[in-house]
Amino acid sequence: MKTVLITGASRGIGRETARLFGEKGWRVAVNYNKSKAKAESLCEEIRSYGGTAEAFCADVSDEAQTEKMIDEILARFGTIDVLVNNAGIALKQGLFTDFSAEDARMIFDTNVFGMMNCSRNVIPHMVHRKSGKIVNVSSIWGICGASCEVIYSSAKAAVIGFSKALAKELAPSGICVNCVAPGMIDTDMNGHLSNEDVDDLCTEIPLGRIGKAEEVAESIFFLAAESSSYITGQIITVDGGWM
Ligand code: NAD
Repeated sequence: MKTVLITGASRGIGRETARLFGEKGWRVAVNYNKSKAKAESLCEEIRSYGGTAEAFCADVSDEAQTEKMIDEILARFGTIDVLVNNAGIALKQGLFTDFSAEDARMIFDTNVFGMMNCSRNVIPHMVHRKSGKIVNVSSIWGICGASCEVIYSSAKAAVIGFSKALAKELAPSGICVNCVAPGMIDTDMNGHLSNEDVDDLCTEIPLGRIGKAEEVAESIFFLAAESSSYITGQIITVDGGWM
């Protein structure tokens, strides 16, 4: 049985991804930062249909907490075959000049350094086994940039740059690194938008609607599964044709 570690899995895209891996018979390490109850109820749900899942606490932006979590998962499950770096924050929307240096640090700490912390601790284990996959969650804004989300866009562009470079570095070790870049997905991250805002956005999206977390989860699963064994250093956009 293969093991996946999904960061920020207590809700949204991470939660649906954990559900999907659980349904497909994977052992799921559910990372959460603060939402212990939600993470545990997700694990119970996965176990209720015969799956294996356990919740592991860590603020991924904290190097020591991340290292401890990965050691715990390896001790418990023996292996991490796939790492999904999903944890992310947008913090707020506004002009670049309305963001302080501290705001920028917070956005990079989770979206970029969190991804690097998890990767740094999982890679030696994958290199030793000469196999593994890392799937990083970027955003279409990391490809084309968004006004009023300049720092978030920069962080998600860094996720793509990191993935492309790491894919080349780890390919000789049999490890694939890819990204998904979602468009507008119906999760708490967009909870600040009114129904009117969403309807306006939908007029710009060729498929005429925002996406579901389950639809992003399917692309993440594809990049984690054997069916994508010859794909590395790539970005799959899941955006209804928006970009
Ligand atoms: P969400 O806010 O529902 O979920 C984000 C998750 O990350 C939460 O569970 C949160 O607790 C966790 N998290 C945040 N900081 C953390 C930390 N330091 N340590 C551990 N966990 C932490 O949002 P979502 O839409 O599910 O976002 C998932 C990913 O998808 C993020 O990387 C986000 O940037 C990306 N994304 C989302 C959208 C969208 O429209 N929803 C679009 C493009 C990209």
